[in-house]
Amino acid sequence: MKYVFGPLSSKRLGQSLGVDLLPPKSCTWNCVYCQLGKTKKFATDMQEFFPREGILAEIREALAINKGIDWITFVGSGETMLYKGIGWLIAEVKKLTSIPVAVITNGSLLYLPEVREELLQADAVLPSLNAGSEALHTQIDRPAQGLTFSQHIEGLVAFRREYKGRLWIEVMLLGGINDSDEALRDLAAVLKEINPDMVHLVLPTRPAPEQEVHLPSEERIERAIAILSEVTTVVHPLKGNMDLRSASDLLKAVTAIVSRHPVQQRELQKAVAECFPGESNKVDAFMQQMLATGCFKLVDHEGEPYWVTVQGEPTIPEQGRLSSEPPLQER
Ligand code: SF4
Repeated sequence: MKYVFGPLSSKRLGQSLGVDLLPPKSCTWNCVYCQLGKTKKFATDMQEFFPREGILAEIREALAINKGIDWITFVGSGETMLYKGIGWLIAEVKKLTSIPVAVITNGSLLYLPEVREELLQADAVLPSLNAGSEALHTQIDRPAQGLTFSQHIEGLVAFRREYKGRLWIEVMLLGGINDSDEALRDLAAVLKEINPDMVHLVLPTRPAPEQEVHLPSEERIERAIAILSEVTTVVHPLKGNMDLRSASDLLKAVTAIVSRHPVQQRELQKAVAECFPGESNKVDAFMQQMLATGCFKLVDHEGEPYWVTVQGEPTIPEQGRLSSEPPLQER
């Protein structure tokens, strides 16, 4: 499938079927921690990058194949709200199923009333807020020219006023950047103004190809939870688990996920093992098959091996049969 991937299992959204609405990488920001690499050209205008009917057809097909989905999650290889027609898609999905719809966005365009309007039918919206000051916003999120910190906050405050669904703000906690007491207190002050239902703390656990970013220490994570909990409910940062058991073509399913973000080797190994219970030889063969495609490689991030695509946009293998070619030994 071109737009739909997963379902993936996560603490926040349970079994979540992902829908990617954008060509990589279309974004209003250029975050230091971005797993998609540098934003080469900023985008700030909404566009219908792909025909909405084609996306809806894939969602319909995925719903017929996959059972037990908890959320349908719109997300993008960039900023999701750049897709013109997301409101229409949410409305159409709601005609198809009672499964709730979530939208992951950086929130940078919420200052525009027409963008907020598109999201009103979503059951949960998860915008980013990584800084409580203009200086840190510029340092971390590096927005396109013309997008300011005050606009970002105004957009979130206005959206909270108008939106009746669940507003779960994501805060990426970066070691040595926004994890000081001062930065956390600034963040808490802004969160108090926005009044979200909840804050999800997330960590840079996956390698960012462009920048050196570091995990915060456990002491700083606990401190962040303590400070932010004074103004809102905070969810501890927990890693999600991948579930590939319903994939009809394992290699294509894994390609769709790794092309969107790096995947920890341990996490992938566990998910593949669940597809072949008691057949560890098949798990090893699958890993070899991934390397043999030439589309993937293993890289180290803070001592952990991760699967990434070899370059930018991966070539999705035509079929998921086992290859007899020797594996590439890249690491
Ligand atoms: S908002 Fe998301 S896609 Fe855009 S640069 Fe930041 S992390 Fe990357």
